Amino acid sequence: MISPYTIDRKTSRAFRLVKADMNRIFSILEQIQKDLAKMKGTDIEVADQLIGISKNIQKVRHETDTALKEAETAKEEAKEALVEAEDIKKYKPKPIVKTKVVYKKSSKSTKFVAARGGKKFHHPSCPFAKNILPKKKIIFKSKETALNNGYKECKCLLR
Ligand SMILES: [Zn+2]
Repeated sequence: MISPYTIDRKTSRAFRLVKADMNRIFSILEQIQKDLAKMKGTDIEVADQLIGISKNIQKVRHETDTALKEAETAKEEAKEALVEAEDIKKYKPKPIVKTKVVYKKSSKSTKFVAARGGKKFHHPSCPFAKNILPKKKIIFKSKETALNNGYKECKCLLR
């Protein structure tokens, strides 16, 4: 897909070229008109025809002027459309970012784990806690309970 920027750049270039061509045509027409004005005095019949040609030239110039103005308007509209497109991009809803789950060590629901016959109690996420065989696993609801049962805190709980 062509980006809006490319379209803008290409239309700008096209308008510059058209304008340059039109300016060249205008300068040629002006020169012709000047030449015609000089010739007017020579022959009345020729002069009348030349006046007609001159009027036609002016008509053409007016039409090209109008066409250029329309082209300018079109370009302005294209620019506005670009700005609008940019705004739409800006207001595009941001993707929902999942918030990180922060593990709370001191949460009320945290339980402590120890092995029957072991010396220390652990946080459930501690590798030692995970290694405890299910049949040996004891769960304490609080540190106090674990301490009262003769267990000591593992390093995993002191951090
Ligand atoms: Zn531990």
